[in-house]
Amino acid sequence: MAAESVIDTQGDQTAAQTPVTVRASLSPSRAADFKTCPLLYRFRSIDRLPERPTVEQARGTLVHAVLERLFDLPAPARTPESAGDLVAPQWDRLVTEEPELAALFADDDAAGVPGFLRSAAALLEGYFAVEDPRRLEPAEREALISAVVDDELLIRGYLDRLDVAPDGALRVVDYKTGGAPREAFEARALFQLKFYALVLWRTRGVVPRVLRLLYLKDAEICDYAPDAEELVRFERTVVALWRAIEQATARQDFRPRPSRLCDWCSHQSRCPSFGGTPPPFPVAAGAPDPLVDARTRPAAPGADE
Ligand code: SF4
Repeated sequence: MAAESVIDTQGDQTAAQTPVTVRASLSPSRAADFKTCPLLYRFRSIDRLPERPTVEQARGTLVHAVLERLFDLPAPARTPESAGDLVAPQWDRLVTEEPELAALFADDDAAGVPGFLRSAAALLEGYFAVEDPRRLEPAEREALISAVVDDELLIRGYLDRLDVAPDGALRVVDYKTGGAPREAFEARALFQLKFYALVLWRTRGVVPRVLRLLYLKDAEICDYAPDAEELVRFERTVVALWRAIEQATARQDFRPRPSRLCDWCSHQSRCPSFGGTPPPFPVAAGAPDPLVDARTRPAAPGADE
């Protein structure tokens, strides 16, 4: 594949503004797709098949939006009541921006939207059970971070939240709102957090002290402390993953890998593991673009729940 000039600044915050040329781009969501199931990666990243939003995803996006806005308020005002007051206005904003969200609830389903908003408020109660936002001042929220690894692969994604302690220690926080059993998704969630840790380490020279998964439904916190050696190994894993994606693309060979996660896959009807047939590999419009991930907005926080 020919190299292409996409200029990255080797990080968003502190790194020198050294232009580099990258030839491929990868977000944690897409990398995790390939790891989970190569065919799922193909459907999402190469065929770019549309996926209808689900109520669960919409609830995740809404709760992430409320928690993001909550920290706009002065610290003493970040109460459960204030968070509850943000739910309906944030839903209205999301529906204005993405009108297809309104289609999740039938016109004759009078209880639909109010019940949905109550379920989002219940997740926020889970948040307040484990954290007091009046005692926090996040350094960044919904921040796009990126780095180039292996001299040519751009890795990037959106953090839900980054906390920086007075001594400079970093804590990466990811809100999990899904109703699915968390053991089905925990490895994927941790992979995503290590991805962010790698970007932060490569751009700021600091290994995050804590990677925190905050499960709102269960009101539980799962903390993980990475170290530099682990991130070196993880970087090798990400680069190897990208090489495997390149190889699969060249061979047009993306195999299904059935798992519990199939229950949440939108593409069962096209999947051979479920009796379906994938569409023809999209070669007519030209080879799949390895930089497509760099040109589109990576999945926003909450979009992958
Ligand atoms: S149904 Fe399962 S095996 Fe098939 S594409 Fe989706 S995740 Fe992969």
